[in-house]
Amino acid sequence: MTKLEVKTSSQTEFIDITSRVQKEIQRLGISDGVCYLFVPHTTAGITINENADPSVKTDILMELDKLIPQDDTYKHLEGNAPAHVKASIIGCSETVFVEQGKLVLGTWQGIFFCEFDGPRTRRVFLKIIS
Ligand code: ZN
Repeated sequence: MTKLEVKTSSQTEFIDITSRVQKEIQRLGISDGVCYLFVPHTTAGITINENADPSVKTDILMELDKLIPQDDTYKHLEGNAPAHVKASIIGCSETVFVEQGKLVLGTWQGIFFCEFDGPRTRRVFLKIIS
């Protein structure tokens, strides 16, 4: 298993990690298999969506903010309840096929680390089964 470190710089933010995951596949020399990605955090997640137009990630974050308001009658007293809810909605894992040494993604797809309670130093666990 590989642990990728992801440094976030905002409270909420999507960070494109596609090229880092692709580099790891090359480093491991795996040509065909399945790549599992797992985020071991309760206030961050991982998703696959468009990485061609950066407005898409901004729109997703904007709509999540509308769905899950910053202030509500949350019982979790740590102050980051919205981040926990967003992390559960987005999810903490993704699976991507690997063929001929490359991630099999759609033309417009990228893999995003999703920060909801930053800035922090985070991790993504990655395992590729050949
Ligand atoms: Zn909390």
